[in-house]
Amino acid sequence: MDISSALQDWYAIHNRDLPWRKTDSPYLIWISEVILQQTRVVQGTDYYLRFTERFPGVEDLAAAPADEVMLFWQGLGYYSRAVNMHETAKYIVRELNGVFPTTYAGLLGLKGVGKYTAAAVASIAYREPVAVVDGNVLRVIARLEGIELPVDSAAGRNACERIAQVLISRKRPDIHNQAVMELGALVCLPRKPLCHKCPLAASCVALKNGKADILPVKRPKKKSRIRYFHYFFITVDEHTWIRKRSGRDIWHTLFEFPMIETDAPVELQDMVSTPEWSTLFPNHPVGVGVSGTCHYKHLLTHQTLNASFYHVDGVGRIESIPGYIRVKLTDLDNYALPRLLVRFLEDIRE
Ligand code: SF4
Repeated sequence: MDISSALQDWYAIHNRDLPWRKTDSPYLIWISEVILQQTRVVQGTDYYLRFTERFPGVEDLAAAPADEVMLFWQGLGYYSRAVNMHETAKYIVRELNGVFPTTYAGLLGLKGVGKYTAAAVASIAYREPVAVVDGNVLRVIARLEGIELPVDSAAGRNACERIAQVLISRKRPDIHNQAVMELGALVCLPRKPLCHKCPLAASCVALKNGKADILPVKRPKKKSRIRYFHYFFITVDEHTWIRKRSGRDIWHTLFEFPMIETDAPVELQDMVSTPEWSTLFPNHPVGVGVSGTCHYKHLLTHQTLNASFYHVDGVGRIESIPGYIRVKLTDLDNYALPRLLVRFLEDIRE
């Protein structure tokens, strides 16, 4: 039996019942694939169901305010993906009469749609035989074919992509692609692959050579960038201040409290003499009434954030903060916030 047939037979018995597998709508497949690039299936299912209940079609997403889209994305990370998704939905409605491109090449032309997403939508919605290659697929292919190049290098990735394209079923690329990803998620696990349950065991080079636990190889990890964020959670008459983040940095378009970033750990009194402090609190250069401080270490893919939150009772001292908007504390949940700020708010509300 060839590899694709073995995969498809295995998938017919073992596939998980997931909501996006019951549709051939390119819109719903697109949403599910973008969400699944951010998170695991269990958490992703909740996001998918909430997102598609609120935005069931591309027109609904296109018509929604940007801030509301971000609210439904909150916690998934890589917020530029949500911004691009919203822009692309608007483009499809405005320029393409709400109809998705029906080919891999056409899908690749959409903003924010890369090779992985274009291949997933083209193969699952339109049965175009183009292989998807995500982390699960890279792992399965590298082991199956015994590829020893780092899979996160251009050469290693290209080798896996070429093989994935050779292996794909011409008849049922939709099932084939989902089957490889499912095998990577359920059997060919990152650590301790379950080779005794694998439908490809007889053909697997890594298993034959005793390298199933060793492959795939990856390049040494990049050093994490260490950052120090100091947030001021200012409350006056049941209100606080926030602003939308802008610029090319993490959490683009999410909201945050007034903050100062420093290159090293500093105490509150050391910040009082900085220009950033004067900008935030122009009328209160020597301090504001800090009633509590919380510290968090927050890990992102290539960054470690050391965050301090200063709870400031600003009654009688703070009326406005340049560049920030005043919002009711009870309305904070209506703004898309980084997970770090949500953690802080959950802790102080306990
Ligand atoms: Fe992965 Fe083991 Fe199957 Fe090879 S035999 S593809 S290592 S699960």
